[in-house]
Amino acid sequence: MNFDLIVIGSGPAGYKTAVSAAHHGARVALVEHGLPGGNCLNRGCIPKKALVYLASLIEDVDSLQGRGIVGSVRGDYAAAVLHKDQVVTGIRDGFAFGLRRLGIELVRAEARLQPGLRVALRPLEGQVAPLAAELSAGRIAIATGSAPRRHNTCPADGERILDSSQFMRTLHECPDSMLFVGGGTVGVELAYLMHQFGARACIAEPSDRLLDRHSISERASGALERKFRRLAIEVRKGVSVSACAPDAHGVNVTFSDGSADHFEKVLVGIGRRPRTEDLGLAEAGIDLDEDGFIRVSEYLETSLPGIYAAESARQGGKLLRVRYPWSRK
Ligand SMILES: Cc1cc2nc3c(=O)[nH]c(=O)nc-3n(C[C@H](O)[C@H](O)[C@H](O)COP(=O)(O)OP(=O)(O)OC[C@H]3O[C@@H](n4cnc5c(N)ncnc54)[C@H](O)[C@@H]3O)c2cc1C
Repeated sequence: MNFDLIVIGSGPAGYKTAVSAAHHGARVALVEHGLPGGNCLNRGCIPKKALVYLASLIEDVDSLQGRGIVGSVRGDYAAAVLHKDQVVTGIRDGFAFGLRRLGIELVRAEARLQPGLRVALRPLEGQVAPLAAELSAGRIAIATGSAPRRHNTCPADGERILDSSQFMRTLHECPDSMLFVGGGTVGVELAYLMHQFGARACIAEPSDRLLDRHSISERASGALERKFRRLAIEVRKGVSVSACAPDAHGVNVTFSDGSADHFEKVLVGIGRRPRTEDLGLAEAGIDLDEDGFIRVSEYLETSLPGIYAAESARQGGKLLRVRYPWSRK
């Protein structure tokens, strides 16, 4: 089957590309091997925002004690997770409907590039077979996103030690205690969330401040650290994890300063890596850099004419800007 554009990956980068191209009159196929909507809708921004909103309401009520509000509230994490799942499912159902209305073909399959602007589709287990074994197009856009980076001494096991994807998928009860390895956005927000729902939360951050990045001022990090101190969220700066040993009740953790502690769960949030393996990029002749990111031009075109790739936040955070040759105007 032939399309004007095939987009691989239906996260924010992929669906925005597909929708803009459809608005410009293109016939578009959007191929997805996971849940439609990508990480953002299913395991990232949306579920996190649904849960953190509830956590902030608990904080608001607590902070208004004695100012006309009497009595405290308590979070029920299991119920919050059900609410979060309903929010995500509702958006995901609407997502597929919206694509259909625009005439975008949502194909549930694993995509792999083939020579000559073609994409092979591998059927997914338990799903109806895709509409064809192979699609071809005038242009292809790669928007396969990223996956959590693995910690060498504290690798996620999906049970006691979780990465950020596993957190949303598997954590249905609030643990008594939880360590957050990495004080970036994921570690900070999820530590706040679990603390508000009743866990003892501790963040271990190797640098000397939380959210240690150019776009965040030291003043903002300082304000956040003061807030966490007031809430009794423990922040251990200048400390990394040197050993993790899961046992029947949790994880024994040894820190780089020689101290040790025990936590029921550990969340590893130390950044993400590009998901560019298993796509047939090298065989197709597409250049990657030494970290596995796809090299692109100012139009986000790869080294292979007609094939584009969404640019990562690391490279400036631009979304995919395919030139639109399909415009009917
Ligand atoms: C806990 C958490 C909270 C976050 N909160 C925020 C937030 O508040 N604000 C914010 O801006 N960002 C947030 N993020 C980051 C946000 O989720 C990502 O920036 C965003 O999802 C990136 O979008 P993307 O389209 O590039 O990739 P993704 O959303 O990862 O989508 C890529 C899609 O491609 C599919 N795919 C991969 N390979 C193939 C293949 N071979 N064939 C078919 N399909 C394939 C994947 O299944 C996936 O669905 C958060 C992330 C996490 C983990």
